[in-house]
Amino acid sequence: MKHQKPSNEETSPVRKRLVIASNNQGKIREFKELLSPFGFDVVSMREAGFTGNIIEDGDTFEENAHIKARTVFDATGIPTIADDSGLEIDFLDGAPGVYSARYAGEDATDKDRCDKVLREMHGVERELRAARFVCTIYFIYAEDEEYSVRGEVSGYIGDEPQGKNGFGYDPIFMVNDDESMADLSDEEKNKISHRANAFKKLSEILKEKFS
Ligand code: IMP
Repeated sequence: MKHQKPSNEETSPVRKRLVIASNNQGKIREFKELLSPFGFDVVSMREAGFTGNIIEDGDTFEENAHIKARTVFDATGIPTIADDSGLEIDFLDGAPGVYSARYAGEDATDKDRCDKVLREMHGVERELRAARFVCTIYFIYAEDEEYSVRGEVSGYIGDEPQGKNGFGYDPIFMVNDDESMADLSDEEKNKISHRANAFKKLSEILKEKFS
């Protein structure tokens, strides 16, 4: 009697689709890596058929991540993950905060945004320069099942830009008295960053639920 090779459907467990509420390929790649051990097929919102506009008008990172996740989940019916991140500076009452990406206007560059912060912090003494990067991630698994996590990294605003790596506000964010976030390699940054800390918390939830 001939032995038949089992089909793929029989050998591999059914993989569940999961949407990242973003079209940013870098972000999607990071989430793919994080989520692959849990048997998810990760797709961008475009790949999931969502081409609408999302208005991020929340007052907090949590609200914005929730708005993004809810909009895409409602439209696709597929489990959805969204994140929102930015820089908070105590002396500026939490600014740039949820406006981090457009702090110096829509067409501004990373350098414009850093320069604006440095101008606003000019002459402010070291003790009052405390800041943190924040990343919140919202995961809607089903209509009545939502999770949210928050990761942070603390530092302070330097007097001038320093370092060549990273992006955004990294050159003005001092992680210690010698190094800015932009002085760190990707590998070093990925060990301590707000995103890494939020990812760790999300993995704990996923481990408990899916492994
Ligand atoms: P979003 O969450 O991708 O929309 O990021 C919002 C903004 O926060 C970015 O455009 C950056 O200006 C800033 N930001 C977020 N994460 C980082 C980081 O790791 N380094 C520097 N700036 C960041």
